[in-house]
Amino acid sequence: CGIVGVLGTVDAAPRIVDSLKRLEYRGYDSAGVATLVDGAIVRRRAEGKLRNLEAVLEKSPLTGISGIGHTRWATHGAPTVANAHPHQAGSVAVVHNGIIENYLELREEIVSAGAVLDTETDTEVVAHLVNLAMAKGLSPRDAVAQVLPRLKGAFALAMLFSGEEDLLIGARKGSPLAVGHGDGEMFFGSDAIALSPFTDRITYLDEGDWAVITRAGVEIFDQANQPVTRPEAKSSVTS
Ligand code: GLU
Repeated sequence: CGIVGVLGTVDAAPRIVDSLKRLEYRGYDSAGVATLVDGAIVRRRAEGKLRNLEAVLEKSPLTGISGIGHTRWATHGAPTVANAHPHQAGSVAVVHNGIIENYLELREEIVSAGAVLDTETDTEVVAHLVNLAMAKGLSPRDAVAQVLPRLKGAFALAMLFSGEEDLLIGARKGSPLAVGHGDGEMFFGSDAIALSPFTDRITYLDEGDWAVITRAGVEIFDQANQPVTRPEAKSSVTS
């Protein structure tokens, strides 16, 4: 339902929760955050309101300056901790808005490849497909480029990769996603409100676009994986 991604210079988890709070108006049933701690993906998730996730984070604080977060409105799988995003398979963690319509078929393929699915969600297939492609030696961006055309349905995605402190990849098809430009920091948000605590300099992805962000900037590609330029706008949403 709500997506946030942060490549920052200070601990990301509190910033992600702050941003997710601004998306509460959209409604949600669970929430989660993943950051890189010494290069490894570490997640904290909770059922119900963001205060539950905050309680989890108070008990088990999460360091790390790169991360992704999500508020979920369940469509596939009950609103449990296990089904809360981010979903992780090996070296990738994924947050997702929308529905992957062909997930059953993709689940079968993943199971045949020997992977074990941990959740009832449609989202988890994305993490597995990207992880399987990376296990074959593809870079994160080549893996994502290979997997995106296989996904049917509506989605916005943001992905975090282990060992990649300066990289997030996002994609948009049928569900909005925007890039936020900071000062030596870069962000993803499902809308300008999600980005409002971080920056008012925003680039909206076009339908079918996907984007690679580092702290130095953004590269955007269209559905045909061709590099494209999208305009940067000044958001009127103030934090
Ligand atoms: N279809 C996904 C799920 O049920 C994402 C739902 C959402 O947009 O929050 O987990």
